[in-house]
This record gives sequence, structure tokens and C-alpha cells, in this order.
Amino acid sequence: MSAAPIALDQLRRAPKVELHRHLDGSLRPATVLELARDARYDKLPERDADALARWFARASDRQSLPLYLAGFEHTIAVMQSADALERVAFEALEDFARDGGVYCELRFAPHFHTRGVGENGATSRALDQRDVMRAVIRGCEHAAREYGLGWGVIVCALRHESPDRSLAQAELALEFREHGCVGFDLAGEEDGFPAADHQRAFELARKANFSVTVHAGESFGPKSIWQALHHCGAHRIGHGVRIVEDVARELDELGPLARYVLDKRVPLEICLSSNVQTGAVPSLAAHPFGFLLRRGFRVTLSSDNTLMSATDASREYALAQRAFGCTLDDLERVTINAMKSAFAPWEERVRLIYERIKPGYAKLRGELGLPPRAPYGSRT
Ligand SMILES: [Zn+2]
Repeated sequence: MSAAPIALDQLRRAPKVELHRHLDGSLRPATVLELARDARYDKLPERDADALARWFARASDRQSLPLYLAGFEHTIAVMQSADALERVAFEALEDFARDGGVYCELRFAPHFHTRGVGENGATSRALDQRDVMRAVIRGCEHAAREYGLGWGVIVCALRHESPDRSLAQAELALEFREHGCVGFDLAGEEDGFPAADHQRAFELARKANFSVTVHAGESFGPKSIWQALHHCGAHRIGHGVRIVEDVARELDELGPLARYVLDKRVPLEICLSSNVQTGAVPSLAAHPFGFLLRRGFRVTLSSDNTLMSATDASREYALAQRAFGCTLDDLERVTINAMKSAFAPWEERVRLIYERIKPGYAKLRGELGLPPRAPYGSRT
């Protein structure tokens, strides 16, 4: 690590892979305003795009996961028609492509978008969950055609909802597996809502040979990660930053769970800005990302929610550079970690690594006058 920092506009040209980006948290502020007008939703707290962007950023930065989640009420309210969902999905991937993105997994809870938009006088009928899936997938396909991106969608179930609801969400995810749905997730407040309650949904998904991830180790400690891995069989962990509570840091001594996560190469979907804003870590300086990367954990970087967290993939890479001294080699490693860990078919992952990611970093290194990449270690 170390070397001269790379400017944000140059980092934008570095290839990126995002595994953890919520559709309902990644809208453009101007789009939120327009969709609210179309849906006659009159509860937005601000009337111009810059002020609204600042409101979301302020509302999310209160060191609490439940407070962080509060802003979603507004975005979900304006995402209740097929046109709105298609547009939001297209724009999320368009923004990501313009930010150097080569592959992105967008996640959302389809049943949040079945309310209709009648509350404030508009007339649209309520969608069913299949309409929701189709609209989002159309938006993704459109962006993929336009920008040559790889993509997948992940269906989220919610910790505070019933296990039966989660089971139905897993069934829905499986129904769309041939149409772009690549995984099943569990999101929402961890404290008091254990992942183990939703075990049946995960069994269904896994026994159908499907990929699963679980938000864990964000607002609750290692026990939550343990449940995600061993009750739900998670192939990746959303955030997972509190795995460090199973490490005696001064001695660099790993407890059995941290050892398992390292040895089994369990990917951690880390979102730096979001982790600070929700209070998963006390500050960026105290974030364990740098430690986990150096120690060989399979860490990846994502934005979580570009709107709520006022960020994007390049800004997250810039934070990793500033806070932990990550070099371009480190960022390439993190990107390849993510691509290896994606829920896309193996052939697509290999193709993107060798055709897009490695050549992209080599080109950028040349433009920046940096020496060729040091050979890979054994720790990716
Ligand atoms: Zn998340």
C-alpha cells in the first residue's frame, strides 16, 4: 500500500464491480422529484434536486441503521409503477457504467413496490411482484445493451417480516432465475431479528442450487455472521465488518469464525460510507477494511446506496485510497475479488476479469505512468 493518491476523475476510469447496491437507494435526486410529480406524491421533504440530495445524505448519517433506513419511505413511494421501476433500474446501471462499472448486482424487495400510487390521487393500478421483476429486468437489459455491462438482480427478504413471506420471496427469485435474477438476500435491522428465523427460505434457495447472501455483521456482531453462514448457508456476507470482533487485533489472532471466513474465502460486501453512516463502525479511520484486506480476507467494495450514502463506486475507491493507503494494485485486487464472488456464471466472471478488468487496470496504469502490476500473491 501507499504511493501518490490517484485523483477521483482518474479513479472513475478504473474498472469496477459492485455486488451490493440497493435499487431503492440508488436513484438520482432529480429522478425522485420527477417520479414524485408523476405519482402525485406530495410528501418529499424538499423541492429541488440539490436540497433533496442533501436531505437524504443528512437523514442517513445518524449512526443508526433504523434511521438510515427511514429515507427509503420516500424512494419506495415513487417506485410504484412499471415505468418508474424500469427507469430507476436503467439509470442506476447507466450511472454505474459512467463510473467505470463493468458488472453490477442490483438488489431490492419486489413486494415493496406493489402498493400502487393511488394514495395521493394518482390512478396507476398496483403492480404484482412479477410485474415489478419484469420492469426492473427491462431497465437492466436496456442499460446492458447500451453500455455493455454485466448485471444481475437479487431479491431481498426482510428480517422483520414473517418467515413465510421470506419463503415466498425465495420462490419468486427462483422463478426469475433464467431472466436475470442471480441471488436471494436477507436485509433489514439485525438486532432482535435473527437470520435463523428465515432458514426455510434459504434452504429452498440453496437446494435449488441458487446463490444466497445475507446482510450480517453490520448492526449486530459475530453471532449474526455465524447464523448467516451456518443457518442460512450464505455464499457471501453483506457488510460483515463486525467479523473483527472475532479477532484479537493487537495479536492479529483470529477466532474460529474469523478463521472460517478467511479460510473459506467468504466474500465480504463492504460499503465504507454506509458503514460509517449506520454506525457499524465508529469512523472511517476505525473501519477494519484496511486490516481485512492486508490479512487476506476476500473483501469487496460497494456503494450500498448512492443516494442515501451520497457516494458511488469511485468515491468508495477514493475513500479506500485515502483512509487505508490502497494503491491501484490493491483496488484491482478488490475488483477481482468482487468479480470472482459475483453470482454470475463462472464463464462470464472469467471473461470480465480477463477482457475488461485486467486490461482496464493495465491501461490506466500506463496512462498514469505507473509500473506494471506486481505478480498476484496467494491472498486474493
Ligand atoms: Zn445493504
